[in-house]
Amino acid sequence: KVINNIRNFSIIAHIDHGKSTLADRLIQSCGGLTERELKEQVLDSMDLERERGITIKAQSVTLDYVAADGETYQLNFIDTPGHVDFSYEVSRSLYACEGALLVVDAAQGVEAQSVANCYTAIEQGLEVLPVLNKMDLPQADPEKVAHEVEEIIGLDATDACQVSAKSGLGIDALLERLVRDIPPPKGDREAPLQALIIDSWFDNYLGVVSLVRIFDGTLKKGEKIRILSTGRDWQANEVGIFTPLRKETGMLRAGEVGFVVAGIKDIHGAPVGDTITHAKTAEVKRLPGFQKVKPQVYAGMFPVSADDYEDFRDALSKLALNDASLDYEPENSDALGFGFRVGFLGTLHMEIVQERLEREYDLDLLTTAPTVVYELAMKNGDLDYVSNPSKLPDMADVEEMREPIVRASILVPQEFVGNVIAECEQRRGTQLDMLFLGNQIQLTYELPMSEVVMDFFDRLKSISKGYASLDYNFERFEAAKLVRLDVLINGDRVDALAVIIHRDHAHGRGRLLVEKMKELIPRQMFDVAIQAAIGGQVVARSTVKALRKNVTAKCYGGDVSRKKKLLEKQKAGKKRMKQVGRVEIPQDAFLAVLKVN
Ligand code: GDP
Ligand code: MG
Repeated sequence: KVINNIRNFSIIAHIDHGKSTLADRLIQSCGGLTERELKEQVLDSMDLERERGITIKAQSVTLDYVAADGETYQLNFIDTPGHVDFSYEVSRSLYACEGALLVVDAAQGVEAQSVANCYTAIEQGLEVLPVLNKMDLPQADPEKVAHEVEEIIGLDATDACQVSAKSGLGIDALLERLVRDIPPPKGDREAPLQALIIDSWFDNYLGVVSLVRIFDGTLKKGEKIRILSTGRDWQANEVGIFTPLRKETGMLRAGEVGFVVAGIKDIHGAPVGDTITHAKTAEVKRLPGFQKVKPQVYAGMFPVSADDYEDFRDALSKLALNDASLDYEPENSDALGFGFRVGFLGTLHMEIVQERLEREYDLDLLTTAPTVVYELAMKNGDLDYVSNPSKLPDMADVEEMREPIVRASILVPQEFVGNVIAECEQRRGTQLDMLFLGNQIQLTYELPMSEVVMDFFDRLKSISKGYASLDYNFERFEAAKLVRLDVLINGDRVDALAVIIHRDHAHGRGRLLVEKMKELIPRQMFDVAIQAAIGGQVVARSTVKALRKNVTAKCYGGDVSRKKKLLEKQKAGKKRMKQVGRVEIPQDAFLAVLKVN
């Protein structure tokens, strides 16, 4: 049955193209927000999200819109994250919608990330409406950008909505289009309950809150529900919607999107992608769920002070309550002591986690260079997966070492395409396709994931004056000539500095690495020898010369305050350093390998 007065939609947009601003504007137009509240971008609720201007978690908001036809429509907007690390969460939010707005900055044009998400939406059968935003800017070029939407994505954009989320221009027309063009949901409110968990998060007061889309049936407060994958029953203590504030309504019906709180204490008790029904109708079919997301990048994280280990462990378990993609297990490093090996969706996810741990939990942490997961075909027929260079088994037992390969799609204006191709070649890429799309070129490459997750995106931006955009997906494992590059400090191998790299790059990178580390390791009272080695053979070396002995002696005379300052400065600088043997190594040196391309 068609449920006429509901529209469920997402917004697909590249970072900075104005998704949050538009969402706020839609909320305001429907009376959900005052002008003052609008000042705060309500949907990006986490501080870090707001600071970095990216949305990480999917959220939703329910709006009442009185259309020109006099009818009141319930609009459910499900927010999606905008960064490539989180594209998995995008497909999840799209699943709960019948339509999506593709928001494109009319002064910038189409970017790879939105192309990829748009294809996902189209594949899932969603109606996608192109929206050209920032029409208030003098540089806005709607004809050119509409043309790009047609050529690159294949959507008809001749009468695309032209809006300014900032000034409010065109917002009313957009709302009318949304109601007219996005199909209403279908469902049977009398049928057995079938609700999909789009997202679950942990709230300190409520326990687990789940965002759900009801496909069939009706869910009421107080009812006994069953989580199908776990088979456990719970009581629905609170049922309601986000306006965007959480508002109890006591009921959610087929076609609607809202939350349920059922006394669940752990997000694994209400897994994303799972189906909720009533305990009495436990025989209903599970809705097609989502693939579980796997970490792509691993790094070791160690407290600078060993005393913080317990606090660190508690902080990680708290973060994991809200982040099902965060994976961690204890790691013990000879050089850095006790810490954790932590798995992330990508390097941005890693930075965010590290920042939250340091800021919200007041921890000083040291992070080792991130690494992808390698597949090892062992001579005994086993397949092993290694995400820690220092844990590579004896290579005599390994038949073949395989690295993850991604398919990357890059959109770039013509004038920079040469730079981008050179960069891809240098990173061992294989070109699959090159499409001319008006002013832009779409390049498709297969690249080793290790070359992409590190600093590829930053490089792309810098060689294209910020214009290139990137999207990538894991394809397969492929055999490669890989070696472990060890770093020795004063003759001792430092396990936490080891990296896995391609053999053809090993010598060059080894040389650059020791040079870079020489800059980063502060001078000590003695010479520090830095060596890079492959399988016991030293391939590069450099030395940090000892400090001249009289550096502090200089201050002895009268100037006590100056000496004090110097000592204080040293102490502050020490925070993110780790004593390895007799040598103090700063955080930057552990990440030096990321900066030697
Ligand atoms: P998001 O990353 O897609 O959520 O983008 P935001 O909504 O955070 O917007 C990114 C930047 O673009 C912010 O500085 C906004 O103020 C600005 N912005 C958004 N919409 C408009 C618009 O219609 N006109 C202008 N001039 N700026 C806009
Ligand atoms: Mg945003």
